[in-house]
Amino acid sequence: MPRARNTGRPQSGPEERPSRAGAARLSLYLRCLEGWLREGVATVSSGQIAESLGISDAQVRKDVSYVGSLGQPGVGYQVTDLIEAIRQALGINREWRSVLIGVGNLARALLRYQGFRAQGFRIVALFDSDPAKIGQEVEGLKVDALEHLGDKIMTLGAELAILTVPAESAQPVAERLHEAGIRGILNFAPTVLRLPESVRLVNVDLSIQLEQLAFQVQLHNMP
Ligand code: ATP
Repeated sequence: MPRARNTGRPQSGPEERPSRAGAARLSLYLRCLEGWLREGVATVSSGQIAESLGISDAQVRKDVSYVGSLGQPGVGYQVTDLIEAIRQALGINREWRSVLIGVGNLARALLRYQGFRAQGFRIVALFDSDPAKIGQEVEGLKVDALEHLGDKIMTLGAELAILTVPAESAQPVAERLHEAGIRGILNFAPTVLRLPESVRLVNVDLSIQLEQLAFQVQLHNMP
């Protein structure tokens, strides 16, 4: 019997979008599923996903229902179908080109890592304001001056930017990125950026995350 498969939106309405937390969980499911795929696993249940991530079965089923009606009673999800559906829902079934601004120590570590390349994220240009760094080659890319930002973003078709400048430089650089047509910024600068709604922003503040971790550990140890 052919498998019932509907990759359309769930019954509850086409307007429904996963929350930020829901989208983050979908990314986690994807990591698990890709691991299982490498191990040759063909089908998984929501219970297996839930158990490997320490969340509830109901939560997994609810999140997955957003990407389509993929499960089969008694069989579970086909791993390849679910991977494809999640990548489509997250918009990562394509290449995303990014520019990186501020080629300091953090940026060099990110450029060396490049684990995100496998997920379709490609850094296509580097920029810095330091004349000593402009012209240097870092991980196969030449550091460019900010005056070429607009042109390069346009010719290379970059839509995202990774911001690794110091906090005090971040706001004006982010505004320039917006003016140059960048649609999303991954901000590593420890500061609050104010940008129009049309530019989506994700902040990665390692100090805040460590503070949160310390808080949780402290809370957990309380009598
Ligand atoms: P390094 O010691 O190599 O400069 P760092 O990680 O200590 O590295 P930071 O002070 O954190 O450097 O700055 C990160 C990078 O951002 C540096 O390469 C710096 O030249 C660059 N930078 C600072 N301000 C701007 C700006 N307005 N536009 C672009 N790049 C900038």
